[in-house]
Amino acid sequence: MKPALWLLGGAATLVALKALARGRDWGSPLDRALAVTSPFGNRIDPFGTGKTVYHNGIDLAAEVGTPALAVADGEIQTVSYDDLNGNFIRVAHENGVVTAYAHLSAVADEVAPGAQVNRGQVIALTGATGAITGPHLHFGVQVGSIWVNPGPYLGL
Ligand SMILES: [Zn+2]
Repeated sequence: MKPALWLLGGAATLVALKALARGRDWGSPLDRALAVTSPFGNRIDPFGTGKTVYHNGIDLAAEVGTPALAVADGEIQTVSYDDLNGNFIRVAHENGVVTAYAHLSAVADEVAPGAQVNRGQVIALTGATGAITGPHLHFGVQVGSIWVNPGPYLGL
């Protein structure tokens, strides 16, 4: 028999794979065709320093005011602002999976820490807040403490 090589990735990989399997049931964060304007992972700094910087999510084209949708049922974990993310929301889902939505122009009234949201619910409007070169939705997926490529969750 061949050795079970798939076990070598360890528990973290298995957790991620289980989360990914669940992610197949996810909806989309936008109510339109998704256009990725900046991928996950290392990229050339969009602010012109010429350095390679790590991007912990993907950027999706969206004019200011585009509805942002919860991709899955969950509980609002964070509604906040910082200079990088602008207005941002984090939503906790099953099994330690968290989704992040950043650069928002507005957050829905009912979206506050502890609130339950459903897949497809409008939780915010996209915008151009924080460190951006143009309006878009930054969407991130965290499994445990690790940011992973959101693309496969969204069928990209
Ligand atoms: Zn981004």
